[in-house]
Amino acid sequence: MALYGDQEIINTDGVLCLTVVAAMIRLRRKYEVPHLKEEGLRRLQRQFPSSLEDHGNLDTDAYEYIDFQVDDDDPRHKSAFSAINLAHECGIQTILPALYLETVGCDLEGMMFSSDELPIPYTALRSCVYGREKLLHAWMNRPYAAPPAVCTVKAQCKAAARPLSKAIRKPPPDLGATLWPWTSFLGTWAEVSALSQGLCKHCQAEFAKVHEEERETHWAVLPSYFKLPAWDDLKDFEA
Ligand SMILES: [Zn+2]
Repeated sequence: MALYGDQEIINTDGVLCLTVVAAMIRLRRKYEVPHLKEEGLRRLQRQFPSSLEDHGNLDTDAYEYIDFQVDDDDPRHKSAFSAINLAHECGIQTILPALYLETVGCDLEGMMFSSDELPIPYTALRSCVYGREKLLHAWMNRPYAAPPAVCTVKAQCKAAARPLSKAIRKPPPDLGATLWPWTSFLGTWAEVSALSQGLCKHCQAEFAKVHEEERETHWAVLPSYFKLPAWDDLKDFEA
């Protein structure tokens, strides 16, 4: 059993149910079982990482490290909300930026109006709503990509870039996906993906480069978008 340090459970990289992860973390409070606490935290941190590289390597279609035990017709925010409640209950801050980012792609009406009860702590809810506004503003003000010197069909690419730049100025279907790698991001937005095909490969690479630079810029200050302390000042289990 995990309680006694069964290495097969402790070091497994397979999916664990959130209820198991939560039990591992809560047990440390009652009985001070450090290996369980650390493994529970590790799970959460792998699913909601602090580094942009780890975030970019995640499967964008499914949670890889935690099974939230939700049904197909459950709203998308249900998983994030259960993890937010656990993080707040146990004083886990390091996962909050990536976790709040999950909610940015969820349907706001469903998040706010599916119940009159407060579904997550007020401090979390206000961070999620505030961060959504900040990320949308950041997206609408992103720089344009110009055809690079190596482009040999500049007139053609400029003509193709015009509708692309216009389309990309609109709010994306999944705002949270703006911090995914370019290819994954394009997978969430058919219109922009189709328009990008009109560019030569050098210009496509330039769009991808600008996107990557923007990802790095916004990830570095992502906690501030949710009114959280800076990355290095986020602490776990201090509450
Ligand atoms: Zn070009």
